[in-house]
Amino acid sequence: MRAAVIGAGAAGLTAAAELAGAGAHVDLYERNDRAGKKLCITGKGRCNLTNNCTPAQVLENVVSNPKFLYSAINSFTPQDTMAYFRALGVPLKEERGRRVFPVSDRAADIAQALLAHARAKGVNIIYSTRVTGVNAGADGCEVIAGGVCEKYDVAVIATGGASYKATGSSGDGYAFARALGNNIITPRAALVPIYLREDVSSLAGLSLRNVTVSLRAPGKKTQSLFGEMLFMHKGVSGPVILSLSDLCRDMTNGGGFVQGSVLEIDLKPALDREKLDKRLIRELLAGHTKQMKNIMPALVPGSLIPFVLAGAGIAQNMRACDITAAQRSALAGALKGLAFTPVKTGSIEEGIVTAGGVDVKEIDPRDFSDKKAGRVYFIGEVLDVDALTGGYNLQIAFSTAMACARGIIKKYSL
Ligand SMILES: Cc1cc2nc3c(=O)[nH]c(=O)nc-3n(C[C@H](O)[C@H](O)[C@H](O)COP(=O)(O)OP(=O)(O)OC[C@H]3O[C@@H](n4cnc5c(N)ncnc54)[C@H](O)[C@@H]3O)c2cc1C
Repeated sequence: MRAAVIGAGAAGLTAAAELAGAGAHVDLYERNDRAGKKLCITGKGRCNLTNNCTPAQVLENVVSNPKFLYSAINSFTPQDTMAYFRALGVPLKEERGRRVFPVSDRAADIAQALLAHARAKGVNIIYSTRVTGVNAGADGCEVIAGGVCEKYDVAVIATGGASYKATGSSGDGYAFARALGNNIITPRAALVPIYLREDVSSLAGLSLRNVTVSLRAPGKKTQSLFGEMLFMHKGVSGPVILSLSDLCRDMTNGGGFVQGSVLEIDLKPALDREKLDKRLIRELLAGHTKQMKNIMPALVPGSLIPFVLAGAGIAQNMRACDITAAQRSALAGALKGLAFTPVKTGSIEEGIVTAGGVDVKEIDPRDFSDKKAGRVYFIGEVLDVDALTGGYNLQIAFSTAMACARGIIKKYSL
């Protein structure tokens, strides 16, 4: 049996190796001159490859179509992913939030392990070759690349989403799906930065751990998350912000936030207002002759001081002993809810993942075959599935790839 796999990313490499391991002849087409270009930049170059949680918890973190993924995630679980990579010789470690990384902190090790495995199983990788069309018939399919049409028994489309186009995923799979008669749910940005009205350029690079960030908009449910965030030149990013950008879809219109939206950072989530007030009294008494800008380093990172004091309406050179109870309360308010004005969410190009994609109603959730063009399969991010940060998106790529490959192996008795 001859199989074409299109796209040597997380999903394509995994499926190709599994199929070749079962005896199929596998041609793996990759438009780049190397495999796993996106994989190598995941997790800030460290690759958060999965989350050591239960399948049910994975599905709780899937934003679009979790039920569709039920079978795949349960048949190739996060623990299976971990065992898989350990068997490929990649030692793993678990960090905060059960996020799993290679011990080496090198995403390239994950890409390299998948590539070496695919090669060892005999996958024929065809680099620098962009597939431009996929046709399906009752007894086989055709893959068109570089003006040449190759015939296969099955074609697995693993071309990824439409964000970070420089990595190779520019949405080609959507065109293949459309041409085969499939519906495409309009691709849109997911897990993107949030841009702010205020000038935060002086905060660029500042990372805040253990903060609670909330997004509020008139008449909408407030969304709050605890964890880590990062300031950029014109806005905010980092795990908490990326996930919030997905949860706040009803607060935005074409990416722009509705009037009156507020992004608040609780810099002291472990302290309630009473405890924080006691802490402030202690700090103010201990440094009663100092100016406020010199008291604040005990409470917040230096670059944030002007923002917190401005938020509380307190001059930086005001002396601690002159602070009134009302000003102390305003300071506590600014520390518990440092407010910014969100303007818009990032573009699709900036999305860690693309939401939308091949309509899952037309795909069999057991093996990811196209219900219409039965010999064509769609796996990974090309599908209309996306999850929050934490390793869940790569888990989706691995689980859908495994379910697809094993489905093909069974269907064609390999
Ligand atoms: C900056 C960043 C950080 C991320 N960090 C994490 C993380 O830590 N954890 C996590 O779970 N997820 C993370 N993600 C998301 C994760 O990388 C993706 O969800 C995952 O890579 C999707 O895998 P895939 O195989 O479906 O697609 P991709 O990995 O995008 O692979 C698709 C492949 O198909 C190739 N291709 C496309 N079109 C064609 C064509 N016509 N012909 C031939 N080849 C083609 C592309 O070149 C590419 O190699 C991150 C994403 C980004 C952008």
